[in-house]
Amino acid sequence: MAESYDVVVIGAGPGGYVAALRAAQLGFKTACIDNFKNAAGKPSLGGTCLNVGCIPSKALLESSENFERVLHKFGAHGISVKEAAIDVPTMIARKQKIVDQFTGGIAGLFRKNKVASVHGTGVFASAGDGYTIEVRDGAKSQSLQAKNVIVATGSVPRALPFAPFDGELVLDNAGALALESTPKRLGVIGAGVIGLEMGSVWRRLGSEVTVLEALPGFLQAADEAIAKEALKVFTKDLGLVVHTGVQVTSVEKRSSFVSVAYEGGGKSQRLDVDCLIVAVGRGPNTQGLGAEQVGLKVDGRGFIEVDADCRTNLPNVYAVGDVVRGPMLAHKAMEEGVAVAERIAGQAAHVNLDHVPWVIYTSPEIAWVGRTEQSLREAGVKYRSGQFPFMANGRARALGEPTGFVKMLADADTDRILGVHIIGPFASELISEAVVAMEFDASSEDIARIVHAHPSLSEVMHEAALAVDKRTLHI
Ligand SMILES: Cc1cc2nc3c(=O)[nH]c(=O)nc-3n(C[C@H](O)[C@H](O)[C@H](O)COP(=O)(O)OP(=O)(O)OC[C@H]3O[C@@H](n4cnc5c(N)ncnc54)[C@H](O)[C@@H]3O)c2cc1C
Repeated sequence: MAESYDVVVIGAGPGGYVAALRAAQLGFKTACIDNFKNAAGKPSLGGTCLNVGCIPSKALLESSENFERVLHKFGAHGISVKEAAIDVPTMIARKQKIVDQFTGGIAGLFRKNKVASVHGTGVFASAGDGYTIEVRDGAKSQSLQAKNVIVATGSVPRALPFAPFDGELVLDNAGALALESTPKRLGVIGAGVIGLEMGSVWRRLGSEVTVLEALPGFLQAADEAIAKEALKVFTKDLGLVVHTGVQVTSVEKRSSFVSVAYEGGGKSQRLDVDCLIVAVGRGPNTQGLGAEQVGLKVDGRGFIEVDADCRTNLPNVYAVGDVVRGPMLAHKAMEEGVAVAERIAGQAAHVNLDHVPWVIYTSPEIAWVGRTEQSLREAGVKYRSGQFPFMANGRARALGEPTGFVKMLADADTDRILGVHIIGPFASELISEAVVAMEFDASSEDIARIVHAHPSLSEVMHEAALAVDKRTLHI
């Protein structure tokens, strides 16, 4: 006889595990099914984010930044280090330790909140009075009965049709996070968040990194001023080689290197690298879910169709996170998970996708929320813009991180903040002030009138708000 649950969550990434925790907090009998296994072949909760995404990438970024500081920044403080070296296996082991602590932490949270954690692939078997979900794990299988189902099956990396991932020469995100030595020449296809973060890590550790991007512009999703500054910093200061507007036509694996052919600048070109990271985006993961078995609607690109409240076409079936429309970001997935659990409990819950912050953890970091200047211009919205550089901020200078700026865009008539864009130190932390302000419909004048600690990086946000009204104090 199948065990019955009020809520069965399929997928234990940030969308799924958070939905399961909130459902359990709200008093529902909850189970969470997940099929991820780590490199050691052990079940590991937390999905892409904890295992092969957000957390391990930030661990490697920090290690490589420390190495960069020792090599190039400590000297200015009068600190000299002789024969600095990076031990890549130690760096990778540190990353894995952090991952293991956090994935184990989710298992602990499940126990604490009495969420039944079930390992295996969850498949819709039948619908009737609720849903029957079959959980398959190798030869073993069991069935769960669910009144409500939350699908949080996430996303998987897209491969190029002519360059399948092999874990050695052609790598996806998991492979890029597990390299055991620094490749001399590294190719990255795709100048998105993942490509730039991974490219930065290995560049700082000594690789010659070439990034190939199909789009004509660099970081087109970001505000144009930020993208321009980022390209300058990443190429001139960091030393990434970036080619935009190129079309990769073939990837040939040789015995110990990869040869990439591409069209760019009106001619055929070739790039030979010791290993290639393919970061051309991620696709929704609905394979093997049995969506067709129960008539769960999936769109042409494979995303589960949902309304603004994450309701699917089936009664009491919801979907959250990367497997549905909207930005593929962990915090968006988590908030959708919370909101859906609360809706099942009859509460009013809302996730404002217009104010989801974006962060790229390069050095300097990039973060933004709301509209870009180019999108406002194209939409014919009248706006005022204020910008202030970290160069003129005491804390940034003391940190030795003077690159970048904060840019604020506000409605020309109402002064309501429409977008905030940051390139600079701790942009990932600074952006929260802008998110809070925008969620409360603040004006640039509101930020300008709030006391900001001195000396702090947040003063750059303050001055950017003052700049909207053309009255900066420190420039
Ligand atoms: C290298 C990298 C760096 C990133 N960095 C950031 C970052 O800094 N910040 C940020 O916000 N986002 C980042 N992301 C994106 C972030 O990881 C995703 O947006 C987030 O993990 C999505 O969460 P999710 O719960 O929707 O799905 P996932 O995290 O993908 O989890 C889905 C889980 O469901 C499991 N599953 C799938 N199908 C089934 C099934 N049928 N049955 C059982 N289990 C199933 C999967 O194995 C997986 O464990 C990064 C991604 C990558 C690849």
